[in-house]
Amino acid sequence: MSHFVLRCRGCGRILKDSYCAFCEHCKGSLVITEYTEPFKKEDKGLWGFNWLPVHHPSIHVGTPVVYKSEGLSEKLGLKNLYIVFSGYWPERNCLLRTCTFKEIEVATVIENAKENRINGFVVASAGNTARAFAYFSVITGFPVIIVVPLACLKEMWYVHENGNPATFVVIDGDYADAIDLSKRISEITGMPFEGGVKNPAKRDGLGSVLLSAVRVIGRLPEHYFQAVGSGAGAIGVYEMAERLIRERRFGTKLPRFHLVQNLPFVPMLRAWQRRSREISPEDVDPALIEKISTRVLSSRYPAYSVKGGIYDILETTEGQMYGVTNDEIYSSMELFAESEGIDIVPAGGAALAGLRQAVRYELVGNEDLILLHITGGGEERYKRDFRTYPVKPLFISKRSQKEEIEEALCTHLRS
Ligand SMILES: *Cc1c(COP(=O)(O)O)cnc(C)c1O
Ligand SMILES: [Zn+2]
Repeated sequence: MSHFVLRCRGCGRILKDSYCAFCEHCKGSLVITEYTEPFKKEDKGLWGFNWLPVHHPSIHVGTPVVYKSEGLSEKLGLKNLYIVFSGYWPERNCLLRTCTFKEIEVATVIENAKENRINGFVVASAGNTARAFAYFSVITGFPVIIVVPLACLKEMWYVHENGNPATFVVIDGDYADAIDLSKRISEITGMPFEGGVKNPAKRDGLGSVLLSAVRVIGRLPEHYFQAVGSGAGAIGVYEMAERLIRERRFGTKLPRFHLVQNLPFVPMLRAWQRRSREISPEDVDPALIEKISTRVLSSRYPAYSVKGGIYDILETTEGQMYGVTNDEIYSSMELFAESEGIDIVPAGGAALAGLRQAVRYELVGNEDLILLHITGGGEERYKRDFRTYPVKPLFISKRSQKEEIEEALCTHLRS
């Protein structure tokens, strides 16, 4: 007996054999996991959470650390500020080796995929997802072909010197070109896509950060702050909050979602300012992406309009969108390092910059229970402890030329 079923958010039907699928009746709705057991808060570690769509996990993976802030809390004048830090911070026993919450997501996705007899993925990523897939691919032998934009290659590093590294393909283009190329590679190799936001295992893995928080705090926060790119992480957290509310043990009110993007690339902020469910094409102009410091937030196809997506979350929780400048991000990264004692990635700085705006405009009260998600950090700390190894791409593609890719992949797969 499984401890979960998959249900369509649109029509409420339970779906069978629907790995990473949309309901055939409701194209614009997400399929979500429904757990048939109450949440067990006592167990330790990621796989101790019974609310993950995995039965027999074998990958070793860390969890974020959740703690009540003192330094930052005092600087901001907030009495009940909790931080959930998803990165590498050995002093707090937080050991995500690729330094972001993508590591938790990818571990869950791979375990769930194996149980669904999926044996390998093609992944398009601008950074942290690729690094997490590469890491687990090396440890578990799970095959992945990863496509990254050339501009992101320098952020790609391995934790291991050798082993059986994932195949990296690099495209001389942006993230949208990487997606396009990975579609072709998927056709050629027959390896499926990683699934994106449609994959409930991905959202539940990401949503487990809220379970980690509730395990420590004992209740749901009133406010949740996070930087958003594709929206998958925030949706995962929201879905966990809904499940917890149904239990009534940890509070009966959904947290308000405070979501942050990096100016000037802020498509969800603009759509929300118009109270529109549609993102407008001029707000996802690639020229805007070149101006931001957080590539991981540069998704041009965020899960905003879909039923159960970011628009619905903002509406249901009386949420708030923020736009923060590069300078606000850098100064927030410094503030965090000074007041909490660890380096954080720019997306973490963006979340904090959003919180600082919320404090300034009194969108949160100073006694409110606030959860700030620092989605990545400790990269510098990690590099003090360990060597990292650069990625050697299989090839660098100028365009997504089918013949060129076919030839290179065939030669590679034969060797
Ligand atoms: C991917 C990522 C985000 C954005 O998450 P989405 O699920 O794409 O919205 C934020 N911070 C970091 C560090 C990330 O890697
Ligand atoms: Zn349906």
